[in-house]
Amino acid sequence: MASASTSAAPIRLPEAVALELEQWAASAAPAEACGVLVGRRTEAGTEVLAALRGRNLARASDRFELDPGELVGMDAIASEAGAELVAIWHSHPAGPAQLSARDLGVELGTWDQVVVGLAESEGERVAWFQLESGGWIERAWRSQVARPRVGSRLPIRDGAATNSRTGFMRRGGTVDVLEAG
Ligand SMILES: [Zn+2]
Repeated sequence: MASASTSAAPIRLPEAVALELEQWAASAAPAEACGVLVGRRTEAGTEVLAALRGRNLARASDRFELDPGELVGMDAIASEAGAELVAIWHSHPAGPAQLSARDLGVELGTWDQVVVGLAESEGERVAWFQLESGGWIERAWRSQVARPRVGSRLPIRDGAATNSRTGFMRRGGTVDVLEAG
């Protein structure tokens, strides 16, 4: 984390979402957990609004494979909320918050990669990686509160919801944006 590049457009990931990723990672161990991050990309940077957890179809405990059909559904959820998928996340149940050799070879198009490494100490378990000049580089992220549009609504699946600190509240299967940050 400390050596991560900060030169590009900033990445904002609410701390509540990062903690949620850690909790999902812990609950899936010793298997890997995986899913997507929903947010917005502008010239001002990347802003995460919510995390969604997907099923891990991989049989081996040291890898992950998102359900393609579920991924399409998650993309639709993001679109309905006026947002998009900005990253794929997965966990290393007993490993570092770094890309493994396999992760380095992954091609995700415009999506970033986020790794939750439970072997790291508190505050350093969530690492963000972006493709730059054909290679994945770690990027620093800030835990500033997101400022989503008031009135936008994110349906939730698999219990995915951030808490009220981020401006979202869990209610009846959707995440309502109650107030702008
Ligand atoms: Zn990995």
